[in-house]
Amino acid sequence: MQVTGPRRKNRPGSIFFICVLVFSTLVLTPIYIHQHGISRSEAALFIFYVLATSFSITVGYHRLFSHGAFKANYFVQFLILFFGAAAFEQSALKWSSLHRRHHQYVDTDLDPYNIKRGFFYAHVGWILFWKQPVNYDNVKDLQKNPLVMHQHEHYRLWSLTAGLGVPLLVGALTGHLLGAALLSIGARLFIVLNSAFFINSYAHTFGSRDFDPHSSARDHWLGAVLTNGEGYHNYHHRFPIDYRNGVYWHHWDPSKWMIWILVRLGLAWDPKTIPDTQINEARAAARISHIQASQA
Ligand SMILES: [Zn+2]
Ligand SMILES: [Zn+2]
Repeated sequence: MQVTGPRRKNRPGSIFFICVLVFSTLVLTPIYIHQHGISRSEAALFIFYVLATSFSITVGYHRLFSHGAFKANYFVQFLILFFGAAAFEQSALKWSSLHRRHHQYVDTDLDPYNIKRGFFYAHVGWILFWKQPVNYDNVKDLQKNPLVMHQHEHYRLWSLTAGLGVPLLVGALTGHLLGAALLSIGARLFIVLNSAFFINSYAHTFGSRDFDPHSSARDHWLGAVLTNGEGYHNYHHRFPIDYRNGVYWHHWDPSKWMIWILVRLGLAWDPKTIPDTQINEARAAARISHIQASQA
């Protein structure tokens, strides 16, 4: 498989999009709220869209499609692909290809969001100022999924319908078109995109390395709060197949709770877990490695 690293290239479209998003969220939205307040329907649509799109990325794009940590029926897959497209983070196929490359080549030049290039690069710089070549050889399993391929081939239709069309339609029907645009499109995208970006920046910078002492990935409760549970990232890099990132019951991981609920409802099945003995062995080995490193 031919794998090449990112190339330096300004992306004017992405830079403009992010600038508009930041201005809209930090300037226009507070002015709108100050002048009009927030109606119940605006708040409900905003909260629904934040949850639906962020869970579609963490539960769906990440744990289901990128790692196969559980299986889900076509109805759940459709919802994930629909609201995942609304998060404007590319198709599930492209997202998964880049993410699998991140795991395979973490902390090297071939890692698309390599933290060694700095916090800003890993957060958003990799999208704004670099071109990331994509080689779909590492997602051949997903290419057999007709729903995934439909979303990939018609991504613009899916993302504009789910990300702009539906919230604007609901906003128009409830008499709050501008509020829907500012809150359920602008502010919601700002929150959900940053939440995903924090996995690559914050969760590779702050926290402990209790399971894999050699990776930059870290475990931190605040990282988990910021990222819908993905912040137990050191464990995740050590055992990416596990449907849990926060492996202990007290770890804040709403995404694992969502998968657990889907399984209980019969909409998903086969959630993968790593046996406790293997987890404890990894933890003990990491502890020894840290002690050795501190004595060296
Ligand atoms: Zn990572
Ligand atoms: Zn992952």
